[in-house]
Amino acid sequence: MIRRTLALLLCLIAAHAAADQPAWPGGIALIDLGAAEGLAPIVKYDGKRVLVMHRDGRWRAVVGVSLDASVGTTTVGLADGATLSFRIDEHMYREQHLKVNPSFVSLSEDDLARVGRERKIIDAALTNWRAVAFDDISLRAPVAGPHSSSFGTRRFFNDEPRAPHKGMDIAARSGDLVRAPRDGVVTATGNYYFNGNTVIVDHGQGFVTMYCHLSNIGVTEGQMVSVGETLGAVGATGRVTGPHLHFGTYLNGNAIDPALLLP
Ligand SMILES: [Zn+2]
Repeated sequence: MIRRTLALLLCLIAAHAAADQPAWPGGIALIDLGAAEGLAPIVKYDGKRVLVMHRDGRWRAVVGVSLDASVGTTTVGLADGATLSFRIDEHMYREQHLKVNPSFVSLSEDDLARVGRERKIIDAALTNWRAVAFDDISLRAPVAGPHSSSFGTRRFFNDEPRAPHKGMDIAARSGDLVRAPRDGVVTATGNYYFNGNTVIVDHGQGFVTMYCHLSNIGVTEGQMVSVGETLGAVGATGRVTGPHLHFGTYLNGNAIDPALLLP
């Protein structure tokens, strides 16, 4: 009984100390895990392993919150069975209406099958786990140009509702070089139905970035890239209304707003 009470008390203390700042769907929850001693704690959210960084002498979980997460209190789990809670606040995202070629809205059976095959490759690359030590998760901008604030917008293509926008569109000219925003490994390259020519880079611990609609791919799968190295060039391939870079950033498999990571 005493043991259970003590465990409960520790849980309550931990729960109170957990959330450093409010999170929202498409945002990041930073959760304090205590003094950074020994090995980094193993933390899971929604069944997926979460990035843990060593910052100011503390371990901190960096949780990517899904765009479709419910508002309210939720928890991450530690390897010893303990849980830490954090709050997800409401966040309003705008609607966006776009006109595209009808082949990107009403897909043929063959195209649907192709999209299904590509989804598996993309999802595998977006959820890859690789051990890398972190003390921050900041990124350099992959290309110069004005950033749209369209992350999370609820989108309608030719008036048909589709999935929310899971990245930032950066206005740049076709042919402008796209550069790695930090060190990583290229885990997928390909020409995908919606995303066009695409590169996916794994930065470690489930922190992954994605570059779509490229005119040209300049790297190969398995290639190590250093910050600033060329990944490809801006283009207008796939489902687009014109040349731009679609820049996606992912933590524990969830798309999060790239603006939270850029200078
Ligand atoms: Zn986009």
